[in-house]
Amino acid sequence: MIEQQIKTAIRDIHDFPKPGIIFKDITPILKDPILCTKITDAFIEKLQGMQIDAIAGVESRGFLFGLTLATRLGVPFIPVRKAGKLPHTVNQKVYELEYGTATIEIHTDAFSPGDRILIHDDLLATGGTVTATSELIQDMGGHVAGFTFVVGLGFLNGLEKISPISNNIIVLAD
Ligand code: 5GP
Repeated sequence: MIEQQIKTAIRDIHDFPKPGIIFKDITPILKDPILCTKITDAFIEKLQGMQIDAIAGVESRGFLFGLTLATRLGVPFIPVRKAGKLPHTVNQKVYELEYGTATIEIHTDAFSPGDRILIHDDLLATGGTVTATSELIQDMGGHVAGFTFVVGLGFLNGLEKISPISNNIIVLAD
């Protein structure tokens, strides 16, 4: 039911951000506070029993439900940002894109070694972004407790890429 509501709300934007790409636009979800609450509730229900010390949300749409989830669970929120955006000292990870590379950063004092971090993003496609996030968290001594996504694009094999990191993968709609 929640899956169908998410699918109905999301709209396809053709040729964004580049010609040939069909972008899944989640902003209609954000216009619907009841659906936002249902999404948060669905995540919280599925996360029951998991030990989570903090939630890392990936810039920028991972901040939206990431902070809400952290607040509901009563744990810290860790912003994972593109290079040059975080003001304090950072650790960074460079990762491969289809063309070129990208860099993500986390504040050096964002969490303590041994903490169990849940990684959240709005959408899973190839899994490249959350794999890089996982590697950065692991480099900093953290443990990846699992992943949550509002949407998964199953055809891109993102699940296969991230399941060796953690089997705790929650995707509300795919
Ligand atoms: P991946 O690294 O899994 O290939 O891509 C996922 C990342 O790119 C996420 O941070 C996500 O926000 C963004 N992304 C890629 N394609 C889309 C899309 O169609 N819609 C949305 N909302 N985000 C996308």
